[in-house]
Amino acid sequence: MIEVNKNKCLRCGGCISLCAVSALMLTEHGIKCDINKCVNCEACVRFCPVDALKIKDE
Ligand code: SF4
Ligand code: SF4
Repeated sequence: MIEVNKNKCLRCGGCISLCAVSALMLTEHGIKCDINKCVNCEACVRFCPVDALKIKDE
């Protein structure tokens, strides 16, 4: 699953748009990753302009 660095995230929504399996969503607490959907492709990690995302071992 994806771990989000809330201090870096700009809430631009770009990662949400690109995730092929719609695993990311914006909540009142910031970007959240649905552990049941994420396939760990790392596309969002590579995309994020401020390097706010990383793969977290479960
Ligand atoms: S792409 Fe990066 S900065 Fe933009 S919402 Fe996603 S995690 Fe936040
Ligand atoms: S790692 Fe891939 S599947 Fe998981 S949230 Fe990011 S883009 Fe979506």
